[in-house]
Amino acid sequence: MTISVQADITVFGSGIAGLWISSVLRQKGFSVALIESASVGGIQTIASQGIIHGGTKYALSGTLSEATRAIGDMPQLWRSCLSGTGPLDLSDVKILSEYQFLWSTENLISQLTGFFASKAMRSRIQAVAEESRPAPFNTTKFKGNLYQLDELVLDIPSLIKSLSRRLIEQTITADPAHIGLKPETPHSLTIQQASGRLIIDSQYMILAAGAGNKSLLAQLGKTSPAMQLRPLHMVMLKGQLPELYAHCIGANANPRLTITSAKHRQQNIWYIGGQLAESGVGISPDVQISRAKDELSATMPWVDTGKTEWATFLAQRAEPKMKNRRRPDSYFLQHDNRITTVWPTKLAFAPRLASDVLSQLDQTNIRPKTTQSDLSIYSLENKLAKPPWETAIQWK
Ligand SMILES: Cc1cc2nc3c(=O)[nH]c(=O)nc-3n(C[C@H](O)[C@H](O)[C@H](O)COP(=O)(O)OP(=O)(O)OC[C@H]3O[C@@H](n4cnc5c(N)ncnc54)[C@H](O)[C@@H]3O)c2cc1C
Repeated sequence: MTISVQADITVFGSGIAGLWISSVLRQKGFSVALIESASVGGIQTIASQGIIHGGTKYALSGTLSEATRAIGDMPQLWRSCLSGTGPLDLSDVKILSEYQFLWSTENLISQLTGFFASKAMRSRIQAVAEESRPAPFNTTKFKGNLYQLDELVLDIPSLIKSLSRRLIEQTITADPAHIGLKPETPHSLTIQQASGRLIIDSQYMILAAGAGNKSLLAQLGKTSPAMQLRPLHMVMLKGQLPELYAHCIGANANPRLTITSAKHRQQNIWYIGGQLAESGVGISPDVQISRAKDELSATMPWVDTGKTEWATFLAQRAEPKMKNRRRPDSYFLQHDNRITTVWPTKLAFAPRLASDVLSQLDQTNIRPKTTQSDLSIYSLENKLAKPPWETAIQWK
């Protein structure tokens, strides 16, 4: 049996890009088919640290780079959504922290004083007085510098829940092997199901499938835009730890460690990225854990991690291909024959990316035509993606 349905726009991928774009499309009256090949909430999105960057991380070289400028407005845009007055109402999303800390070790103070006082940083951070230092910096054993940076950290599972619950009728989860596209009929998607074939015809398609964009483009017979993957070997530890959202600043332009926290089964998790994760690719989890232990004892030697358990998590950032595989400065979208391929490159860029997608539809004269039908009846069970600390099998 073949069932045919119409949707104005088919969106592939339910990470932050697909969820945000689909939500704003619905607001504008478009009917949407949101196709997901695994769990709702994405692969990178659920693994992200939830930091709504305003670019300070990219100013660590001491100058305001293109990346800093591109992302500078994002915290304000997100704050408006979180307070219910922005382009999307995210007032039910949990904010884990209103700010993050930047700390440096004693031996780097002299090198970094100039940097913290620099023009690029002065408006972004404030020094934290000794008596106001939070744990784990509220000890005389801490001899470094501590600064507060007003950039938010969000609870990603609650963000996914908030966005996905308004898209229940639009979301179809299907086995990736059963999602078929053809170059000769690019706007017609076929999903093979136990009961027969489902064909979804749309005016326009948006490829927001992260690393999955490559194979969708290949199915459509396209080699452009090209994609790059930049891996990260993240580290997690759990136990009696204070909640912490902080970057350890080293001599490098990248933070030495970026630590965010989550609660799991009454315990605090520290989820660690930064240079440790960038440089820990291609090594075993055991070696990466021992590097992380060394880094923590070098940067916060007074913190006792003796009774903690450790695990690692491999993640891939999917992005447009760049020269020398460098990090893209901004989000990416490319339009070709009523198909737009997107990579947000940062969670924080999702609102800006979605608004560019809407402008493109407007310029291409794509208007809402089809009434939204309930597509959930064609879906496998929609499961929400789980964060890495919930899926880690082996804690050591
Ligand atoms: C470890 C880590 C930490 C990060 N921390 C931050 C941070 O703190 N702040 C920040 O701003 N950014 C951060 N980022 C970057 C950010 O997470 C990503 O830029 C963003 O989540 C990408 O979203 P996405 O929707 O493009 O991709 P994804 O979240 O990967 O979602 C893509 C979705 O498409 C689905 N899919 C794949 N193939 C198909 C197909 N054929 N058909 C249908 N669906 C398909 C996948 O199953 C997935 O659900 C981090 C990234 C990583 C890896």
